[in-house]
Amino acid sequence: MNCKSIRCLPLLVLGLMWPLTSPAADSFNILLYHHISSTMPRSTSLTAKEFEGHLAYLKHNNYTVVDLGSAIASVQQGTALPKKAIVITFDDAWRDIYLHGFPLLKKYDYPFTVFVNTDPVDQNNRHAMTWDMLRDLKKHGVTLANHTKDHDYLVRKPMYDQQWLTATLDNINTAQQRLTDETGPVPKWLAYPFGEYNDQLKRALKDRGYIAFGQQSGGVAKFSDWQALPRFPAAGIYSSLKTLKTKLASQPLPAHYAAFANPVIRTDQAGQSQPILNVELSKAQRLGVRQQLSCFIVGKRQMPAWQGKMNFSIQANEALGKGRNRYNCTAPIWGQKNYYWLSHQWLVYGGEAPPKE
Ligand SMILES: [Zn+2]
Repeated sequence: MNCKSIRCLPLLVLGLMWPLTSPAADSFNILLYHHISSTMPRSTSLTAKEFEGHLAYLKHNNYTVVDLGSAIASVQQGTALPKKAIVITFDDAWRDIYLHGFPLLKKYDYPFTVFVNTDPVDQNNRHAMTWDMLRDLKKHGVTLANHTKDHDYLVRKPMYDQQWLTATLDNINTAQQRLTDETGPVPKWLAYPFGEYNDQLKRALKDRGYIAFGQQSGGVAKFSDWQALPRFPAAGIYSSLKTLKTKLASQPLPAHYAAFANPVIRTDQAGQSQPILNVELSKAQRLGVRQQLSCFIVGKRQMPAWQGKMNFSIQANEALGKGRNRYNCTAPIWGQKNYYWLSHQWLVYGGEAPPKE
């Protein structure tokens, strides 16, 4: 902008005042929902009344609900995000999202994204949305994105060889094509089914221009791993506002997330089932982080081991159980009541048949 003329003065003054009145944010938090229902499995559901409680809380506590595309663009390009920016996402194209969630989101005028697994839609599954419903969402500004074709466990396979990679990418490409054919262009975003991925898949997606989302908790910033972005699950036991409000107000702990260890521990291939997570902070932190960092492994407190000012590691005291496990760490943010958040999900897999979920 050419701003030599006097007409720009108000803009310049506003620019000087902006940081004092409303400091712009450089991170945002994503909420993850599945069902809005009182009859579907509780672990991935909340009722319409509970969901409206979340939306009302966001509204009354000055959160700005932003659409995922503009939030990503702001963080990647370093342009200002609204303070207290929240993104709402749903995984699986459940019909109850359309019937019970969509009317409430329209009422609050909140944008949202639905990650669609396309087979149930193509097969007219009575619990899934129809293509007409999905087109109606899109007409109302909702973003649709990829959650694979068949919602398979992508990394619970005998081997991670070329055949596996080709089949996995076919699964993802087919969903992308079905979404495009039925609803028009969709962004190159993938939500991993069950939040499960490995390093090979992340690399392949990065090479193909995809951004990908997990189900570990935390916020999104420039220093995030863009092929394993975190989201805060907000259904079932996580739907209580008592705990959710701490997460909504949190910021991602500045660290080199893309350097985190491969999340799949193969116990049938001499994998270490007490994995070490090495964390390198990406910004020097005040002492508070170092002294007050609390880590939890499967709900149990675990002391981090510091190596210098910028690095710490955490390791489980005992072998992790089969399936998904998470390491979570939080630390108070200097001068605020809020917390930094960091999480890593591990999948301990011994070649057994995947559970039915
Ligand atoms: Zn899913």
